[in-house]
Amino acid sequence: MLQSTLDRTAVLAPNYRPLDVVIESADDCWVTDVDGKKYLDCLAGYSALNFGHNNPVLNKAVIDQLHKVTLVSRAFDHDQMLPFARELTELTGTEMMLPMNTGAEAVESAIKAARKWGYDVKGVAPEQANIIVAENSFHGRTTTIVSFSTDADAKDGYGPYTPGFRVVPYGDIEAVKEAIDDNTVALLFEPIQGESGVVLPPDSFLPALRELCDETNVLMILDEIQSGLGRTGHTLAQDYSGIRADLTTLGKALGGGVLPVSAVVGRRDVLQVMTPGTHGSTFGGNPLACALGRAVITILAEGEIQQRAAHLGSIMEERLKKIENDGHLADTRCRGLWAGIDVEPRLGLTGRQLCERLAERGMLCKDTHGSTIRLAPPLTISEEDLNYAMDILESVLNEQ
Ligand code: PLP
Repeated sequence: MLQSTLDRTAVLAPNYRPLDVVIESADDCWVTDVDGKKYLDCLAGYSALNFGHNNPVLNKAVIDQLHKVTLVSRAFDHDQMLPFARELTELTGTEMMLPMNTGAEAVESAIKAARKWGYDVKGVAPEQANIIVAENSFHGRTTTIVSFSTDADAKDGYGPYTPGFRVVPYGDIEAVKEAIDDNTVALLFEPIQGESGVVLPPDSFLPALRELCDETNVLMILDEIQSGLGRTGHTLAQDYSGIRADLTTLGKALGGGVLPVSAVVGRRDVLQVMTPGTHGSTFGGNPLACALGRAVITILAEGEIQQRAAHLGSIMEERLKKIENDGHLADTRCRGLWAGIDVEPRLGLTGRQLCERLAERGMLCKDTHGSTIRLAPPLTISEEDLNYAMDILESVLNEQ
């Protein structure tokens, strides 16, 4: 019952090519299309829906706040702002929070804070700051962020590009060392590369980056917009390495899949370079977003959802490894309830084709590049539903 391709392309900018599914409603891990067909959601809004669709705790927080006040702009304070800041910094073991809306805005804000810190505090000469980033990273779609993307689809045609970035191979500490100079103000990395296909760096990478940043007075910025807030079995993916970045960007699940809510959390002495008038956002930190973010924090503060992600993740990993050992997958990368799988080339199946076949069988996933797909169901998924998803995947691959 999908609208014809003609209808779609006539009125909607064609910057996406979704699967042939039109969703009408959703509850927890299941979505229902306009024909009443149910699908298990194994993408979870790119991890924005970590706590499931239609989550009663999040819904209640939003509805209660909706009747009170939704927006005051940053010209005035409101009663949800400081509690949100205190609770988020407590949850993440950080000192200060800067609220924004989308993930890309949080990344932009971290870049701006790092540059300003470089000039105001580190003493870098005006306009000379550089930031080291990784190949195959994904940090959003703004002009500055695509300026340092190595993905031609994301970058080409959008120049002129913002200067001041140096790209190194992901996970290569020696390359980072070589790229650092006196004008380097920050390193910006994903602790696990999500869009790239759940690419895990060597275990030594994040601790080595932390050490290097301390030695060279360079800020360590970790983008946890996709990896953060429970997905990896930890509150933050960096917890796995026992380190804390100087700045961490959060988004997606911070708004529970209800609203765009993002933030930069980190060191007070860095974020306080953002003095009045130097940065801002009309909707950033609005009362509705803060009330929702606080409800997300109450879920995460219990710690149970992180344990669930770790436990279910080990079940998913075991099932995927078996499918790999059966010769259907070329590689499987897992951390918590998050997996990137590469279809065995011999099967001659693109990631897109696999997603289409899975959708026919009632399971929604998204391909990333070529023959790679990412699995990230809501962390609320039952063991039974997770096994059901693995059964569908196994049987679709067995049919090839
Ligand atoms: N950073 C990372 C690591 C992401 O995965 C994403 C989105 O996928 C973003 C930033 C951009 O977030 P948004 O789409 O909310 O701007």
